[in-house]
Amino acid sequence: MNDLKMNGVSDENLKDGLSLDELFEKGDGLTYNDFLLLPGFIDFTADDVNLKSPLTRNLTLNAPLISSPMDTVTESDMAISMALCGGIGIIHHNCTPDYQANEVLKVKKYKHGFIRDPMVMSPNATVADVLEAKRKNGFTGYPITENGKLGGKLVGIVTSRDIDFREKDVSLKLAEVMTKVEDMVTAQKGIKLQQANEILEKSKKGKLPIINQNGELVALIARTDLKKARIYPNASKDSNKQLLVGAAIGTRDDDKIRLKLLVEAGVDVVVLDSSQGNSSFQMQMIRFIKSTYPELQVIAGNVVTRAQAKNLIDAGCDGLRVGMGSGSICITQEVMACGCPQATAVYQVSSYARKFGIPVIADGGIQNIGHIMKALSLGASAVMMGSLLAGTSEAPGDYFFSDGVRLKKYRGMGSLEAMERKDAKGAAMSRYYHTEIDKLRVAQGVSGNIVDKGSVLRFLPYLECGIQHSCQDIGARSLAHLNEMTYAGELRFMKRTHSAQAEGNVHSLFSYEKRLF
Ligand code: IMP
Repeated sequence: MNDLKMNGVSDENLKDGLSLDELFEKGDGLTYNDFLLLPGFIDFTADDVNLKSPLTRNLTLNAPLISSPMDTVTESDMAISMALCGGIGIIHHNCTPDYQANEVLKVKKYKHGFIRDPMVMSPNATVADVLEAKRKNGFTGYPITENGKLGGKLVGIVTSRDIDFREKDVSLKLAEVMTKVEDMVTAQKGIKLQQANEILEKSKKGKLPIINQNGELVALIARTDLKKARIYPNASKDSNKQLLVGAAIGTRDDDKIRLKLLVEAGVDVVVLDSSQGNSSFQMQMIRFIKSTYPELQVIAGNVVTRAQAKNLIDAGCDGLRVGMGSGSICITQEVMACGCPQATAVYQVSSYARKFGIPVIADGGIQNIGHIMKALSLGASAVMMGSLLAGTSEAPGDYFFSDGVRLKKYRGMGSLEAMERKDAKGAAMSRYYHTEIDKLRVAQGVSGNIVDKGSVLRFLPYLECGIQHSCQDIGARSLAHLNEMTYAGELRFMKRTHSAQAEGNVHSLFSYEKRLF
Protein backbone atom coordinates (compact mmCIF):
# COMPACT_ATOMS: atom_id res chain seq x y z
CA MET A 1 0.00 0.00 0.00
CA ASN A 2 1.22 3.53 -0.72
CA ASP A 3 2.22 5.80 2.11
CA LEU A 4 -0.10 8.66 2.88
CA LYS A 5 1.58 11.97 2.10
CA MET A 6 0.35 14.77 4.32
CA ASN A 7 2.52 17.83 4.39
CA GLY A 8 5.60 15.71 4.57
CA VAL A 9 4.19 13.31 7.18
CA SER A 10 4.07 9.69 6.12
CA ASP A 11 2.12 7.38 8.38
CA GLU A 12 -0.31 4.52 7.78
CA ASN A 13 -2.05 5.41 11.07
CA LEU A 14 -3.08 8.75 9.66
CA LYS A 15 -5.32 7.15 7.04
CA ASP A 16 -8.81 8.19 8.05
CA GLY A 17 -11.92 6.99 6.25
CA LEU A 18 -12.10 4.14 3.77
CA SER A 19 -10.35 3.14 0.60
CA LEU A 20 -12.48 2.70 -2.53
CA ASP A 21 -12.74 -1.07 -2.07
CA GLU A 22 -13.55 -0.72 1.62
CA LEU A 23 -16.34 1.75 0.79
CA PHE A 24 -18.13 -0.85 -1.31
CA GLU A 25 -17.00 -3.91 0.64
CA LYS A 26 -20.41 -4.83 1.99
CA GLY A 27 -22.08 -4.81 -1.40
CA ASP A 28 -24.66 -2.18 -0.39
CA GLY A 29 -26.02 -0.10 -3.23
CA LEU A 30 -24.70 3.43 -2.69
CA THR A 31 -25.59 6.67 -4.41
CA TYR A 32 -23.47 9.81 -4.67
CA ASN A 33 -25.13 11.37 -1.63
CA ASP A 34 -24.22 8.43 0.58
CA PHE A 35 -20.53 9.29 0.88
CA LEU A 36 -17.97 12.09 0.85
CA LEU A 37 -14.33 12.46 -0.15
CA LEU A 38 -11.89 13.41 2.57
CA PRO A 39 -9.63 16.39 1.90
CA GLY A 40 -5.94 15.94 1.05
CA PHE A 41 -2.91 18.22 0.88
CA ILE A 42 -2.76 21.36 -1.28
CA ASP A 43 0.49 22.57 -2.80
CA PHE A 44 -0.82 23.92 -6.14
CA THR A 45 -3.50 26.30 -7.33
CA ALA A 46 -6.91 25.27 -8.64
CA ASP A 47 -6.06 26.80 -12.02
CA ASP A 48 -3.22 24.30 -12.35
CA VAL A 49 -5.55 21.29 -12.22
CA ASN A 50 -5.58 19.57 -15.61
CA LEU A 51 -9.02 18.26 -16.60
CA LYS A 52 -7.98 16.15 -19.59
CA SER A 53 -9.63 12.76 -19.49
CA PRO A 54 -10.11 9.83 -21.88
CA LEU A 55 -13.52 9.39 -23.51
CA THR A 56 -12.68 6.15 -25.32
CA ARG A 57 -9.58 4.13 -26.11
CA ASN A 58 -8.52 6.71 -28.74
CA LEU A 59 -10.33 9.94 -27.91
CA THR A 60 -9.49 12.38 -25.14
CA LEU A 61 -11.58 15.27 -23.86
CA ASN A 62 -10.20 18.45 -22.35
CA ALA A 63 -12.98 18.39 -19.76
CA PRO A 64 -14.86 15.27 -18.55
CA LEU A 65 -18.30 16.52 -19.60
CA ILE A 66 -20.73 14.89 -22.04
CA SER A 67 -24.27 15.87 -23.00
CA SER A 68 -26.74 13.03 -23.21
CA PRO A 69 -28.28 11.80 -26.48
CA MET A 70 -31.78 12.97 -25.60
CA ASP A 71 -34.10 14.91 -27.87
CA THR A 72 -34.49 17.68 -25.29
CA VAL A 73 -30.73 17.90 -24.65
CA THR A 74 -28.39 17.36 -27.60
CA GLU A 75 -28.58 18.54 -31.18
CA SER A 76 -25.90 20.55 -32.98
CA ASP A 77 -26.15 23.73 -30.88
CA MET A 78 -25.52 21.83 -27.67
CA ALA A 79 -22.82 19.65 -29.26
CA ILE A 80 -20.95 22.70 -30.58
CA SER A 81 -20.99 24.39 -27.19
CA MET A 82 -20.00 21.21 -25.35
CA ALA A 83 -17.00 20.74 -27.66
CA LEU A 84 -16.03 24.43 -27.48
CA CYS A 85 -15.81 24.04 -23.69
CA GLY A 86 -13.64 20.90 -23.91
CA GLY A 87 -16.38 18.25 -23.60
CA ILE A 88 -18.50 16.51 -26.23
CA GLY A 89 -22.17 16.27 -27.19
CA ILE A 90 -23.84 13.06 -28.38
CA ILE A 91 -26.57 13.81 -30.93
CA HIS A 92 -29.77 11.89 -30.16
CA HIS A 93 -31.40 9.50 -32.63
CA ASN A 94 -35.08 10.21 -32.05
CA CYS A 95 -35.14 11.63 -35.57
CA THR A 96 -34.63 10.51 -39.15
CA PRO A 97 -31.12 9.35 -40.12
CA ASP A 98 -30.79 12.33 -42.49
CA TYR A 99 -31.70 14.80 -39.79
CA GLN A 100 -29.22 13.28 -37.33
CA ALA A 101 -26.40 13.12 -39.89
CA ASN A 102 -27.00 16.76 -40.76
CA GLU A 103 -26.73 17.74 -37.09
CA VAL A 104 -23.37 15.93 -36.96
CA LEU A 105 -22.29 17.72 -40.12
CA LYS A 106 -23.17 21.10 -38.61
CA VAL A 107 -20.80 20.39 -35.70
CA LYS A 108 -18.00 19.14 -37.94
CA LYS A 109 -18.37 22.10 -40.30
CA TYR A 110 -18.63 24.59 -37.50
CA LYS A 111 -16.16 27.39 -37.80
CA HIS A 112 -15.92 29.86 -35.01
CA GLY A 113 -18.09 32.76 -35.94
CA PHE A 114 -19.73 31.36 -39.10
CA ILE A 115 -23.43 30.56 -38.75
CA ARG A 116 -24.18 28.05 -41.51
CA ASP A 117 -27.90 27.70 -40.91
CA PRO A 118 -29.04 31.18 -39.93
CA MET A 119 -32.72 31.82 -39.50
CA VAL A 120 -33.89 33.57 -42.64
CA MET A 121 -37.09 35.49 -43.39
CA SER A 122 -39.06 36.31 -46.51
CA PRO A 123 -39.88 39.86 -47.68
CA ASN A 124 -43.54 38.86 -47.25
CA ALA A 125 -43.14 38.07 -43.56
CA THR A 126 -44.34 40.77 -41.18
CA VAL A 127 -43.04 42.81 -38.26
CA ALA A 128 -45.17 40.54 -36.07
CA ASP A 129 -43.14 37.54 -37.29
CA VAL A 130 -39.90 39.26 -36.31
CA LEU A 131 -41.26 40.14 -32.87
CA GLU A 132 -42.36 36.53 -32.39
CA ALA A 133 -38.94 35.24 -33.52
CA LYS A 134 -37.27 37.66 -31.13
CA ARG A 135 -39.44 36.37 -28.29
CA LYS A 136 -38.44 32.77 -29.13
CA ASN A 137 -34.77 33.19 -30.02
CA GLY A 138 -33.85 36.23 -27.99
CA PHE A 139 -32.39 38.16 -30.94
CA THR A 140 -33.44 40.23 -33.92
CA GLY A 141 -31.29 40.48 -37.02
CA TYR A 142 -32.63 38.17 -39.72
CA PRO A 143 -31.35 38.18 -43.31
CA ILE A 144 -34.11 38.32 -45.90
CA THR A 145 -33.97 36.33 -49.10
CA GLU A 146 -36.37 36.22 -52.05
CA ASN A 147 -37.68 32.78 -51.10
CA GLY A 148 -37.28 33.20 -47.36
CA LYS A 149 -34.67 30.42 -47.22
CA LEU A 150 -30.93 29.99 -46.89
CA GLY A 151 -29.54 29.73 -50.42
CA GLY A 152 -32.09 32.22 -51.77
CA LYS A 153 -31.05 35.58 -53.26
CA LEU A 154 -30.28 38.08 -50.49
CA VAL A 155 -32.59 41.11 -50.67
CA GLY A 156 -32.15 42.72 -47.26
CA ILE A 157 -31.84 42.36 -43.52
CA VAL A 158 -34.12 43.26 -40.67
CA THR A 159 -32.59 44.31 -37.36
CA SER A 160 -34.02 45.80 -34.20
CA ARG A 161 -33.36 49.27 -35.57
CA ASP A 162 -35.67 48.55 -38.53
CA ILE A 163 -38.58 47.51 -36.36
CA ASP A 164 -38.15 49.81 -33.35
CA PHE A 165 -41.31 51.90 -32.93
CA ARG A 166 -43.22 49.61 -35.31
CA GLU A 167 -45.17 47.82 -32.58
CA LYS A 168 -48.36 49.50 -33.77
CA ASP A 169 -47.85 48.41 -37.40
CA VAL A 170 -47.09 44.76 -36.82
CA SER A 171 -48.79 43.72 -40.04
CA LEU A 172 -46.28 45.71 -42.13
CA LYS A 173 -44.40 43.53 -44.60
CA LEU A 174 -40.64 43.25 -44.05
CA ALA A 175 -40.09 44.39 -47.66
CA GLU A 176 -41.24 47.81 -46.45
CA VAL A 177 -39.11 48.09 -43.32
CA MET A 178 -35.94 46.11 -44.05
CA THR A 179 -32.55 47.56 -44.85
CA LYS A 180 -32.15 46.81 -48.56
CA VAL A 181 -29.23 44.80 -49.88
CA GLU A 182 -27.75 47.77 -51.76
CA ASP A 183 -27.37 49.58 -48.40
CA MET A 184 -25.86 46.59 -46.61
CA VAL A 185 -22.34 45.40 -45.98
CA THR A 186 -21.86 41.82 -47.18
CA ALA A 187 -18.88 39.55 -47.79
CA GLN A 188 -18.11 36.93 -50.43
CA LYS A 189 -18.04 33.20 -49.75
CA GLY A 190 -14.54 32.00 -48.87
CA ILE A 191 -13.68 35.01 -46.72
CA LYS A 192 -11.43 34.25 -43.75
CA LEU A 193 -12.73 34.90 -40.26
CA GLN A 194 -10.03 37.48 -39.60
CA GLN A 195 -11.06 39.55 -42.66
CA ALA A 196 -14.73 39.22 -41.72
CA ASN A 197 -13.85 40.43 -38.27
CA GLU A 198 -12.15 43.51 -39.70
CA ILE A 199 -15.15 44.30 -41.93
CA LEU A 200 -17.53 43.99 -38.97
CA GLU A 201 -15.32 46.17 -36.83
CA LYS A 202 -15.11 48.89 -39.49
CA SER A 203 -18.79 48.76 -40.44
CA LYS A 204 -19.93 48.65 -36.79
CA LYS A 205 -22.73 46.27 -37.88
CA GLY A 206 -23.97 43.37 -35.78
CA LYS A 207 -24.33 40.89 -38.66
CA LEU A 208 -22.37 40.19 -41.82
CA PRO A 209 -24.21 38.08 -44.45
CA ILE A 210 -21.93 35.92 -46.63
CA ILE A 211 -23.08 35.55 -50.23
CA ASN A 212 -21.88 33.62 -53.28
CA GLN A 213 -21.22 34.98 -56.77
CA ASN A 214 -24.96 34.91 -57.55
CA GLY A 215 -25.80 37.01 -54.54
CA GLU A 216 -27.31 34.01 -52.71
CA LEU A 217 -27.01 33.80 -48.96
CA VAL A 218 -24.66 31.01 -47.77
CA ALA A 219 -23.87 31.97 -44.16
CA LEU A 220 -23.93 34.74 -41.64
CA ILE A 221 -21.41 36.09 -39.19
CA ALA A 222 -22.58 37.66 -35.95
CA ARG A 223 -20.44 40.08 -34.00
CA THR A 224 -21.35 38.33 -30.74
CA ASP A 225 -20.06 35.00 -32.11
CA LEU A 226 -16.81 36.58 -33.21
CA LYS A 227 -16.25 37.68 -29.65
CA LYS A 228 -16.92 34.13 -28.45
CA ALA A 229 -14.55 32.68 -31.04
CA ARG A 230 -11.54 34.04 -29.22
CA ILE A 231 -12.24 32.48 -25.87
CA TYR A 232 -12.29 28.71 -26.35
CA PRO A 233 -8.66 27.60 -26.37
CA ASN A 234 -9.72 24.38 -24.65
CA ALA A 235 -12.10 23.09 -27.33
CA SER A 236 -12.13 19.33 -28.03
CA LYS A 237 -10.97 18.87 -31.62
CA ASP A 238 -9.94 16.14 -34.05
CA SER A 239 -6.68 16.11 -35.99
CA ASN A 240 -8.26 18.41 -38.64
CA LYS A 241 -9.03 20.95 -35.93
CA GLN A 242 -12.76 20.29 -36.26
CA LEU A 243 -14.88 19.95 -33.14
CA LEU A 244 -15.45 16.44 -31.79
CA VAL A 245 -18.98 15.09 -31.93
CA GLY A 246 -20.74 11.85 -31.13
CA ALA A 247 -24.07 10.33 -32.14
CA ALA A 248 -26.33 7.68 -30.70
CA ILE A 249 -27.66 4.72 -32.66
CA GLY A 250 -29.63 1.56 -31.93
CA THR A 251 -28.73 -2.03 -32.71
CA ARG A 252 -31.24 -2.93 -35.42
CA ASP A 253 -30.37 -3.67 -39.01
CA ASP A 254 -31.63 -0.30 -40.25
CA ASP A 255 -29.28 1.41 -37.79
CA LYS A 256 -26.50 0.33 -40.14
CA ILE A 257 -27.90 2.72 -42.74
CA ARG A 258 -28.05 5.48 -40.13
CA LEU A 259 -24.48 4.66 -39.12
CA LYS A 260 -23.25 4.97 -42.70
CA LEU A 261 -24.71 8.48 -42.97
CA LEU A 262 -23.20 9.45 -39.62
CA VAL A 263 -19.77 8.20 -40.68
CA GLU A 264 -20.05 10.14 -43.96
CA ALA A 265 -20.91 13.25 -41.93
CA GLY A 266 -17.69 12.79 -39.93
CA VAL A 267 -18.92 11.48 -36.58
CA ASP A 268 -16.04 10.74 -34.18
CA VAL A 269 -17.76 8.31 -31.84
CA VAL A 270 -21.04 6.39 -31.75
CA VAL A 271 -22.92 5.49 -28.63
CA LEU A 272 -24.97 2.29 -28.74
CA ASP A 273 -28.03 3.57 -26.96
CA SER A 274 -29.74 0.99 -24.84
CA SER A 275 -30.96 0.99 -21.25
CA GLN A 276 -29.75 -2.65 -20.90
CA GLY A 277 -26.77 -3.03 -23.16
CA ASN A 278 -25.75 -6.58 -22.32
CA SER A 279 -27.36 -8.20 -25.34
CA SER A 280 -26.42 -10.27 -28.33
CA PHE A 281 -27.77 -7.40 -30.50
CA GLN A 282 -25.25 -4.99 -29.04
CA MET A 283 -22.36 -7.43 -29.24
CA GLN A 284 -23.12 -8.07 -32.91
CA MET A 285 -23.34 -4.35 -33.61
CA ILE A 286 -19.97 -3.69 -31.95
CA ARG A 287 -18.37 -6.41 -34.09
CA PHE A 288 -20.05 -5.06 -37.22
CA ILE A 289 -18.79 -1.52 -36.55
CA LYS A 290 -15.27 -2.64 -35.70
CA SER A 291 -15.00 -4.68 -38.88
CA THR A 292 -16.66 -2.08 -41.14
CA TYR A 293 -15.27 1.17 -39.69
CA PRO A 294 -12.19 0.14 -37.70
CA GLU A 295 -11.28 3.77 -36.90
CA LEU A 296 -14.68 4.67 -35.47
CA GLN A 297 -14.85 4.70 -31.67
CA VAL A 298 -17.77 2.80 -30.11
CA ILE A 299 -19.20 3.41 -26.67
CA ALA A 300 -21.39 0.52 -25.57
CA GLY A 301 -23.91 0.24 -22.75
CA ASN A 302 -25.66 0.92 -20.60
CA VAL A 303 -24.27 -1.48 -18.05
CA VAL A 304 -24.04 -1.50 -14.25
CA THR A 305 -22.35 -4.82 -13.45
CA ARG A 306 -18.99 -6.37 -14.24
CA ALA A 307 -20.58 -9.33 -16.02
CA GLN A 308 -22.45 -6.99 -18.36
CA ALA A 309 -19.28 -5.00 -18.99
CA LYS A 310 -17.28 -8.14 -19.76
CA ASN A 311 -19.43 -9.11 -22.74
CA LEU A 312 -19.22 -5.68 -24.33
CA ILE A 313 -15.48 -5.37 -23.72
CA ASP A 314 -14.96 -8.84 -25.19
CA ALA A 315 -16.96 -7.77 -28.24
CA GLY A 316 -14.50 -4.91 -28.76
CA CYS A 317 -16.08 -1.66 -27.48
CA ASP A 318 -13.86 1.41 -26.87
CA GLY A 319 -15.78 2.88 -23.95
CA LEU A 320 -18.64 2.01 -21.61
CA ARG A 321 -21.65 3.99 -20.49
CA VAL A 322 -22.76 3.19 -16.97
CA GLY A 323 -26.13 3.73 -15.34
CA MET A 324 -29.49 2.06 -15.07
CA GLY A 325 -32.26 3.79 -13.26
CA SER A 326 -30.35 6.79 -11.91
CA GLY A 327 -31.55 9.41 -14.42
CA SER A 328 -33.73 12.24 -13.16
CA ILE A 329 -36.54 11.35 -15.59
CA CYS A 330 -36.16 7.62 -15.14
CA ILE A 331 -38.68 5.11 -13.80
CA THR A 332 -36.77 1.99 -14.90
CA GLN A 333 -36.02 0.77 -11.37
CA GLU A 334 -39.66 1.18 -10.39
CA VAL A 335 -41.17 -0.43 -13.49
CA MET A 336 -38.57 -3.10 -14.32
CA ALA A 337 -37.31 -3.78 -10.78
CA CYS A 338 -33.93 -3.74 -12.43
CA GLY A 339 -31.00 -1.36 -12.11
CA CYS A 340 -28.30 -0.36 -9.65
CA PRO A 341 -27.62 2.64 -7.42
CA GLN A 342 -25.28 4.80 -9.44
CA ALA A 343 -22.19 5.10 -7.21
CA THR A 344 -22.00 1.32 -6.86
CA ALA A 345 -22.54 0.85 -10.60
CA VAL A 346 -19.70 3.26 -11.45
CA TYR A 347 -17.38 1.57 -8.96
CA GLN A 348 -18.16 -1.95 -10.17
CA VAL A 349 -17.78 -1.29 -13.87
CA SER A 350 -14.82 1.11 -13.63
CA SER A 351 -12.73 -1.18 -11.44
CA TYR A 352 -13.22 -3.97 -14.00
CA ALA A 353 -12.95 -1.96 -17.23
CA ARG A 354 -9.67 -0.26 -16.22
CA LYS A 355 -7.90 -3.60 -16.52
CA PHE A 356 -8.61 -3.45 -20.25
CA GLY A 357 -7.95 0.27 -20.67
CA ILE A 358 -11.64 0.98 -21.33
CA PRO A 359 -12.84 4.37 -20.04
CA VAL A 360 -16.18 4.58 -18.27
CA ILE A 361 -18.82 7.28 -18.53
CA ALA A 362 -21.00 7.79 -15.45
CA ASP A 363 -24.40 8.44 -17.00
CA GLY A 364 -27.38 9.88 -15.14
CA GLY A 365 -28.12 11.24 -11.70
CA ILE A 366 -25.58 14.07 -11.85
CA GLN A 367 -27.15 17.00 -10.03
CA ASN A 368 -24.17 19.18 -9.13
CA ILE A 369 -20.39 19.54 -9.20
CA GLY A 370 -20.07 17.33 -6.12
CA HIS A 371 -21.70 14.44 -7.98
CA ILE A 372 -19.33 14.91 -10.91
CA MET A 373 -16.35 14.73 -8.56
CA LYS A 374 -17.69 11.66 -6.84
CA ALA A 375 -18.25 9.87 -10.16
CA LEU A 376 -14.68 10.70 -11.23
CA SER A 377 -13.28 9.61 -7.88
CA LEU A 378 -15.02 6.22 -8.26
CA GLY A 379 -13.11 5.60 -11.48
CA ALA A 380 -15.30 7.17 -14.18
CA SER A 381 -13.36 9.23 -16.70
CA ALA A 382 -16.30 11.46 -17.67
CA VAL A 383 -19.91 12.15 -16.74
CA MET A 384 -22.95 12.28 -18.99
CA MET A 385 -25.64 14.80 -18.12
CA GLY A 386 -29.25 15.29 -19.09
CA SER A 387 -31.16 17.38 -16.56
CA LEU A 388 -28.14 19.51 -15.69
CA LEU A 389 -27.95 20.75 -19.29
CA ALA A 390 -31.64 20.68 -20.28
CA GLY A 391 -33.23 24.09 -19.95
CA THR A 392 -30.15 25.87 -21.32
CA SER A 393 -30.51 28.00 -24.43
CA GLU A 394 -28.55 25.40 -26.47
CA ALA A 395 -30.95 22.55 -25.62
CA PRO A 396 -33.53 21.87 -28.37
CA GLY A 397 -37.01 23.28 -27.85
CA ASP A 398 -38.60 26.62 -27.16
CA TYR A 399 -38.93 28.36 -23.84
CA PHE A 400 -42.40 28.97 -22.46
CA PHE A 401 -43.76 30.54 -19.31
CA SER A 402 -45.71 28.83 -16.54
CA ASP A 403 -46.70 30.84 -13.45
CA GLY A 404 -44.18 33.48 -14.45
CA VAL A 405 -41.28 30.99 -14.63
CA ARG A 406 -39.38 30.51 -17.91
CA LEU A 407 -39.21 26.80 -18.70
CA LYS A 408 -38.20 24.27 -21.34
CA LYS A 409 -39.41 20.74 -21.79
CA TYR A 410 -37.18 17.89 -20.59
CA ARG A 411 -38.26 14.30 -21.12
CA GLY A 412 -36.94 10.77 -20.83
CA MET A 413 -36.26 9.00 -24.09
CA GLY A 414 -38.30 6.11 -22.71
CA SER A 415 -41.29 8.33 -21.91
CA LEU A 416 -44.38 7.63 -23.98
CA GLU A 417 -44.19 11.17 -25.34
CA ALA A 418 -40.66 10.67 -26.73
CA MET A 419 -41.33 7.16 -28.01
CA GLU A 420 -44.43 8.34 -29.85
CA ARG A 421 -42.73 11.34 -31.42
CA LYS A 422 -44.02 11.91 -34.89
CA ASP A 423 -43.02 15.31 -36.13
CA ALA A 424 -40.88 16.85 -38.81
CA LYS A 425 -37.70 15.44 -37.28
CA GLY A 426 -39.26 12.20 -36.73
CA ALA A 427 -38.70 8.56 -36.33
CA ALA A 428 -39.62 6.74 -33.20
CA MET A 429 -36.97 5.39 -30.87
CA SER A 430 -35.63 1.92 -30.27
CA ARG A 431 -33.73 2.46 -27.00
CA TYR A 432 -36.43 0.88 -24.92
CA TYR A 433 -37.35 -1.95 -27.28
CA HIS A 434 -35.41 -5.13 -27.71
CA THR A 435 -37.21 -6.60 -30.71
CA GLU A 436 -39.35 -5.47 -33.60
CA ILE A 437 -42.32 -7.37 -32.23
CA ASP A 438 -42.73 -5.23 -29.10
CA LYS A 439 -46.04 -3.53 -29.70
CA LEU A 440 -47.37 -2.39 -26.38
CA ARG A 441 -45.22 0.37 -24.99
CA VAL A 442 -44.05 0.29 -21.39
CA ALA A 443 -42.77 3.69 -20.37
CA GLN A 444 -39.44 3.83 -18.55
CA GLY A 445 -39.30 7.60 -18.32
CA VAL A 446 -41.38 10.67 -17.62
CA SER A 447 -41.81 13.97 -19.36
CA GLY A 448 -41.51 17.26 -17.49
CA ASN A 449 -40.27 20.83 -17.54
CA ILE A 450 -37.10 22.44 -16.34
CA VAL A 451 -36.19 26.00 -15.43
CA ASP A 452 -34.25 28.24 -17.84
CA LYS A 453 -30.52 27.96 -17.06
CA GLY A 454 -29.11 30.44 -19.56
CA SER A 455 -26.31 29.41 -21.89
CA VAL A 456 -24.12 26.31 -21.42
CA LEU A 457 -21.27 28.54 -22.52
CA ARG A 458 -21.52 30.12 -19.08
CA PHE A 459 -22.57 27.00 -17.20
CA LEU A 460 -19.79 24.63 -18.34
CA PRO A 461 -16.94 26.95 -17.28
CA TYR A 462 -18.62 27.06 -13.86
CA LEU A 463 -18.67 23.24 -13.69
CA GLU A 464 -15.05 23.04 -14.83
CA CYS A 465 -13.86 25.61 -12.33
CA GLY A 466 -15.75 23.76 -9.59
CA ILE A 467 -14.10 20.45 -10.51
CA GLN A 468 -10.69 22.11 -10.37
CA HIS A 469 -11.39 23.48 -6.90
CA SER A 470 -12.65 20.14 -5.69
CA CYS A 471 -9.53 18.39 -7.05
CA GLN A 472 -7.46 20.95 -5.21
CA ASP A 473 -9.23 20.18 -1.91
CA ILE A 474 -8.59 16.49 -2.47
CA GLY A 475 -4.96 17.09 -3.42
CA ALA A 476 -5.25 15.87 -7.03
CA ARG A 477 -3.29 17.90 -9.57
CA SER A 478 -5.12 16.40 -12.52
CA LEU A 479 -7.88 13.93 -13.27
CA ALA A 480 -5.20 11.39 -14.15
CA HIS A 481 -3.70 11.96 -10.69
CA LEU A 482 -7.14 11.61 -9.09
CA ASN A 483 -7.51 8.22 -10.77
CA GLU A 484 -4.10 7.11 -9.49
CA MET A 485 -5.01 8.24 -5.97
CA THR A 486 -8.30 6.30 -6.17
CA TYR A 487 -6.70 3.00 -7.03
CA ALA A 488 -3.65 3.46 -4.80
CA GLY A 489 -5.97 3.73 -1.78
CA GLU A 490 -4.69 7.27 -1.25
CA LEU A 491 -8.07 8.88 -1.86
CA ARG A 492 -10.14 8.42 1.27
CA PHE A 493 -13.92 8.08 1.37
CA MET A 494 -16.44 8.30 4.19
CA LYS A 495 -20.04 7.10 4.34
CA ARG A 496 -22.64 9.63 5.44
CA THR A 497 -25.57 8.89 7.70
CA HIS A 498 -28.88 10.65 7.01
CA SER A 499 -28.13 13.17 9.74
CA ALA A 500 -24.64 13.73 8.30
CA GLN A 501 -26.28 14.50 4.96
CA ALA A 502 -28.64 16.96 6.64
CA GLU A 503 -25.67 18.61 8.35
CA GLY A 504 -23.88 18.88 5.01
CA ASN A 505 -26.76 20.83 3.50
CA VAL A 506 -27.85 24.36 4.36
CA HIS A 507 -29.71 24.28 7.66
CA SER A 508 -31.00 26.40 10.54
CA LEU A 509 -31.93 29.35 8.32
CA PHE A 510 -35.36 30.92 8.06
CA SER A 511 -34.84 31.57 4.36
CA TYR A 512 -31.94 31.79 1.96
CA GLU A 513 -31.00 32.30 -1.65
CA LYS A 514 -28.79 29.71 -3.35
CA ARG A 515 -26.82 31.43 -6.10
CA LEU A 516 -24.16 29.17 -7.57
CA PHE A 517 -22.19 31.41 -9.91
P1 IMP B 1 -30.08 12.92 -15.79
O1 IMP B 1 -28.79 13.58 -16.11
O2 IMP B 1 -30.18 12.51 -14.35
O3 IMP B 1 -31.26 13.72 -16.23
O4 IMP B 1 -30.10 11.53 -16.60
C1 IMP B 1 -29.89 11.47 -17.98
C2 IMP B 1 -29.75 10.01 -18.38
O5 IMP B 1 -30.97 9.30 -18.12
C3 IMP B 1 -29.54 9.78 -19.86
O6 IMP B 1 -28.22 10.00 -20.28
C4 IMP B 1 -29.97 8.33 -20.03
O7 IMP B 1 -28.99 7.41 -19.68
C5 IMP B 1 -31.08 8.20 -19.01
N1 IMP B 1 -32.39 8.27 -19.63
C6 IMP B 1 -32.83 9.04 -20.64
N2 IMP B 1 -34.13 8.84 -20.89
C7 IMP B 1 -34.54 7.91 -20.01
C8 IMP B 1 -35.80 7.28 -19.76
O8 IMP B 1 -36.82 7.58 -20.36
N3 IMP B 1 -35.80 6.35 -18.77
C9 IMP B 1 -34.70 6.00 -18.07
N4 IMP B 1 -33.52 6.61 -18.24
C10 IMP B 1 -33.43 7.54 -19.21
